[in-house]
Amino acid sequence: MPDLAAALRPLLPSPLQSVRDERFERHGVGLLLKRDDLIHPDLPGNKWRKLAPNLRAARGRPVLTFGGAYSNHLRATAAAGRLLGFPTVGVVRGDELADRPLNPSLSRCAADGMRLVFADRAAYRAKHEPAVLARFVAESGAEDVYVVPEGGSNAPAARGCAELGAELRDDPAGVGAAAVACGTGGTLAGLAAGLGPGRRALGVAVLRGSFLGGEVRALQQAAFGGRAGDWSVEDRFHFGGYARGGPELDAFAADFEDRHGLPVERVYVAKLLYALSVLAAEGAFPRGTALAAVITGRPDGPPPAP
Ligand SMILES: *Cc1c(COP(=O)(O)O)cnc(C)c1O
Repeated sequence: MPDLAAALRPLLPSPLQSVRDERFERHGVGLLLKRDDLIHPDLPGNKWRKLAPNLRAARGRPVLTFGGAYSNHLRATAAAGRLLGFPTVGVVRGDELADRPLNPSLSRCAADGMRLVFADRAAYRAKHEPAVLARFVAESGAEDVYVVPEGGSNAPAARGCAELGAELRDDPAGVGAAAVACGTGGTLAGLAAGLGPGRRALGVAVLRGSFLGGEVRALQQAAFGGRAGDWSVEDRFHFGGYARGGPELDAFAADFEDRHGLPVERVYVAKLLYALSVLAAEGAFPRGTALAAVITGRPDGPPPAP
């Protein structure tokens, strides 16, 4: 397999942009946007940072991974397979999907050559049991697969995301706190480790439930041998759960787009930015803090014209 960075030319370090927003300035907070969404057109954001070390470890073997019907991680994995020429298998949650036309996200995966295997809820939950995994592999027809967990979060992924923290730590903007929207927590685990002591990492949960802290601890243990950095999880801003939202969140996101010209991805990034505006108003950041919001993705749809 060709060298990843040479073949795909990611934009790294990703740009860090300062924006003027009186909702933050009023509270003495300087808002910065860490534009991970610009890293690569097909592997945006944290998906690049998490996949790159795994693809190196896979060394061209078929990559098997897991996700829901709209998983950004599945799309990124499929795109990487097409660009670099290795086989990919996506185990998709929901066997009922097998009987329907593919949605646009799964169509993209299939068009990129990903072999899709549909799993019922029980099998999906048990996906890491060897017998269940063996069935998925058999059904896919692939051999000698490299398995990447759901959302791409494992120890190599967390170490890949430590680069994100290190880029922020080393930036002359003097970042004192950085925040990211969390699904599986792999990005937060690495971000906190890379920021290091004395800088705060904040994760905004987009799913309901309080599993996230435990996931981040386990990932840090596996990746760094123990707790790394100063991090916490905010779980007041999931708006009812994954991909849920509402008029208030939509209005906030549309307004942010108008003010700053940033296309705001709705599942993760909108909740992050909304949460930060509330936290700033609550006085969660000391005056004078340079606060970096990690823009982990962009809205679906055709890529912007060059
Ligand atoms: C996958 C994803 C996340 C969540 O990352 P985790 O490491 O799973 O917490 C955040 N933002 C976007 C846009 C994503 O696609």
